[in-house]
Amino acid sequence: MSVVGEIKCPHCTAPLAYAPGEVLFTCRYCGYTGYIDLSVQFKLAHSILPPRLSNQEVADIVKKWMGTGFAKPRDLAKKGKVLEQRYLLVPFWLVPVKATTTYRGLFVRLGPQTEKSGKVEGAYDWFIVARSGVKVPPRIFDLPISERVPFSLSNLPVGVEALNAELDAEEAKERAKQQIKLFHVERAKENVDRFIEQKTDYEFGQLTYVHVPLWFIRYEYRSATYDVIVDGHAGRILLGELPPAEIGIF
Ligand SMILES: [Zn+2]
Repeated sequence: MSVVGEIKCPHCTAPLAYAPGEVLFTCRYCGYTGYIDLSVQFKLAHSILPPRLSNQEVADIVKKWMGTGFAKPRDLAKKGKVLEQRYLLVPFWLVPVKATTTYRGLFVRLGPQTEKSGKVEGAYDWFIVARSGVKVPPRIFDLPISERVPFSLSNLPVGVEALNAELDAEEAKERAKQQIKLFHVERAKENVDRFIEQKTDYEFGQLTYVHVPLWFIRYEYRSATYDVIVDGHAGRILLGELPPAEIGIF
């Protein structure tokens, strides 16, 4: 980590280093969370999805995943070799939002061109990762977010630190808007081939800042490497890269 500065935790007065681009810190000594710009007050809830899985349990989950399911080389569990297993407590914004997209457009794919209009709506707990360098799938609907608890250092395994955020709440909302718009437009494309107009309205609830324990695993199979992400709370595979199916099936 390249350090740009140091602040004093307003809660316990411990000196804390921070890196370029970081906007929110979590004190490693007392668990206090605030803006690195100490003149701004942090008023939102801070939660954690409590880590529950050990290193070995996660390794077992990955082995099992390699050995079961469709479209995997048959010898993946045997030949796949884990090169790296990294544990990070990654900050996310949980963005509760109701979004409505109304659209009008042309349907041309069958027969004569017709004009169609419609609406796509949804209520979401949208996850936005609050760090740019962490590679996670763009949409994670699979996390059991209702099992989050208020953040406390006592929830952290020894030696694991909560990563600071690089994205603040307003930026997270903007990012959620962009992603939801794309998501809705994709769904609208089932009815319309060319849009004449489209508009999305958003109604945001209170955002929550939440740390999620994630395991980043890199494995090697037939001299190529692939990534797997497992959540350290429930053990779900959030990302599972696979070798091309034809490899190994002969
Ligand atoms: Zn502190």
